[in-house]
Amino acid sequence: ISIQTSFDQAHLTMKRSLRVLKYGGSSLATEEHIDKVARQIIQRKRSGEDIVVVASAMGGTTDRLMALAGNLAGDPPVRELDKLLGTGEHVSTALLAMALQRHGHDAVSLTGPQCGILTSDEHFNAVVEHVDTSRMRRELSEGRIVVAAGFQGRNAEHEITTLGLGGSDITAVVLAAALGAERCEICSDVDGVYSADPRVVDQARRIDELSYAEMLEMARHGASVLNARAVEHARDNKVEIYSRSTAHPEAGGTLIHDLEPGEPRVVGIASHDKLLRLMIEHRQHHTAADEMLAELDEDDLFVDSIDHDNGRRDILIPAERLPDAAAYGRELEKRFDEHIVVGPECSSVSAIGLGVGEADDLRGSWRRYSEQAGVSLHNDYRARHAITCVVEPNQASTLMNVFHREFDCPAEAAA
Ligand code: ASP
Ligand code: MG
Repeated sequence: ISIQTSFDQAHLTMKRSLRVLKYGGSSLATEEHIDKVARQIIQRKRSGEDIVVVASAMGGTTDRLMALAGNLAGDPPVRELDKLLGTGEHVSTALLAMALQRHGHDAVSLTGPQCGILTSDEHFNAVVEHVDTSRMRRELSEGRIVVAAGFQGRNAEHEITTLGLGGSDITAVVLAAALGAERCEICSDVDGVYSADPRVVDQARRIDELSYAEMLEMARHGASVLNARAVEHARDNKVEIYSRSTAHPEAGGTLIHDLEPGEPRVVGIASHDKLLRLMIEHRQHHTAADEMLAELDEDDLFVDSIDHDNGRRDILIPAERLPDAAAYGRELEKRFDEHIVVGPECSSVSAIGLGVGEADDLRGSWRRYSEQAGVSLHNDYRARHAITCVVEPNQASTLMNVFHREFDCPAEAAA
């Protein structure tokens, strides 16, 4: 991302107190929700901050639009799909700007293109390449609250593009970086990132701060609070992310920022409950498998790959990202000239923390904990900041609880 750097004095003054607040769809689900959010924003504005709001579509809208397109067109053309999906954020931002004005504050809603968000050509999964902040800066310097449409931009051909599902988080981080705001707040129906899914682990509690690397591993291994690409942008541009609840700001939240690594410790347990296993049976040539992995990674499909001694390589993909695995397997087979078998579903449980995958005193501990709990591991592997175990789907919740207790997550998180 290239960031425009021509500041005048007004912009420098503005830069000190600028906040980017992003509201998710469930925070904007009805007129009442939108009205409440408007009051909250005005309170913040009156306390002396300049505000850029990034809004998602009203809750349920994007799904509804996707269903409409799917019903009518089966596999809809992506150009029209992006144009259609973009309307969701047009509605929510226009309504929010109206509510702000009704409560007595000057505000303007802007589309992604009006915010100066320029993206790659690709539809539905476009990458932000440049932000021309001049329009937003002008509006801010005239005292307006800017309400920016999340999830969208335009490409060089002036076509509307979208940034992938959940992409409003990306917009929030990108705008914070481009405008020089130190922090962006992601406001949703949860009050931050938890040490495990509280629906599965009773002892789970909110984590007060996390490093970018830890958050990325949490997201990659199944925690769905924040968009992983948004966290990458935040890391690369040194923007802090504060994840908090819309309805209860006083409850606090999770701050994601640069954290000095201390003693390796597990801060959270993440899990994918349904993973598909694509097994590349007789690998002809390494390059095809590597190319396949690179491509899956680019499409945000890839989770992990496991190399077996007999030359077989397994690729694990979250089931929800691949509605028709068999067809996908066949397609890959044809394109890469490899024999691919779609294996039975499995689950993964990961213990995450800075350096835990390399810590000598943790080595083997997870195998001991699993064995004591009677959970047999299909596979286990380590990355720098994560230890991952692959298990039968019906054993994942047991293992999450065991890891959460044995790795001492709640006690650490309470500090
Ligand atoms: N409205 C889009 C979606 O539902 C973008 C977002 O909310 O982040 O994925
Ligand atoms: Mg979202």
